Amino acid sequence: MPEGPEIRRMVDDIAGAIVTRDAKKVFFAFDRFKGYESALAGRRVTAVSARGKAVLVFFAARGDDGPWCVYSHNQLYGKWRITPADREPETKRQLRFAVFTRDQAARLYSASDIRLVRPDALDDVPYLAHLGPDPLNEDIAAGDLIDRLNDTRLAGRALGGLLLDQRFIAGIGNYLRSEILFEAGIAPKTRPKNLDDDAKQRLVEAIVRLIRRAYETKGITNPPDRAQRLKDEGLSFGKRRHMVFGRAGRSCYDCNSEIIKTTVASRRLYYCPRCQPTD
Ligand SMILES: [Zn+2]
Repeated sequence: MPEGPEIRRMVDDIAGAIVTRDAKKVFFAFDRFKGYESALAGRRVTAVSARGKAVLVFFAARGDDGPWCVYSHNQLYGKWRITPADREPETKRQLRFAVFTRDQAARLYSASDIRLVRPDALDDVPYLAHLGPDPLNEDIAAGDLIDRLNDTRLAGRALGGLLLDQRFIAGIGNYLRSEILFEAGIAPKTRPKNLDDDAKQRLVEAIVRLIRRAYETKGITNPPDRAQRLKDEGLSFGKRRHMVFGRAGRSCYDCNSEIIKTTVASRRLYYCPRCQPTD
């Protein structure tokens, strides 16, 4: 499942193809939206943005009809494809939504959660209504993330599970969870209520730093100098990406201890027992 940084890069690609251009044609697979294909055709695409793992495509107002937004959430199987407008991608997937401009087309396949909403009603979409702060797509102050850690409804849950909960903080997926906890030096079983102020600060900084680094580096969470050194040594992309994730049995880059693999919230999690001590 793509994580926040992967969704955001995909959104950059979609935006590059259709934003500030007029939609020549709009396609919806679902009957309930068929009537809107002609209503949206001819409108300008004003923005494409991500919120957590949702993708939002905004259409300008026309005449006395206000602006619209197409909300989509890919779940596990949805996939966007960008192509020249006159070329249809070869795929067996079901086309669900598409925007065609004069030159390019953005097509969404297989996704089932697609909604047509007014931009000012986006907060009524259940996924968005419950979404936590999104440090990659919004300007979030560190203090706001500290407030999340201090929220009594969340502070008693172990961070290994909590970090995957999009209602806590949006955009963190499975590899980021392991990497963030390692970067902050915090054991996965630790609960926010047991963190001192320094540890809370380290955790918040690790969240923001790694989610943005993964976006800028196309998924590499290792520090840039180490990633470059490993590349120079001939390591593949997969082997030089992460500090602990996917490195069970290998040596910790910081202390040489063996990286441990475990399962938390039904998904694999990696940590260093020495750099992330349990109190
Ligand atoms: Zn270590």
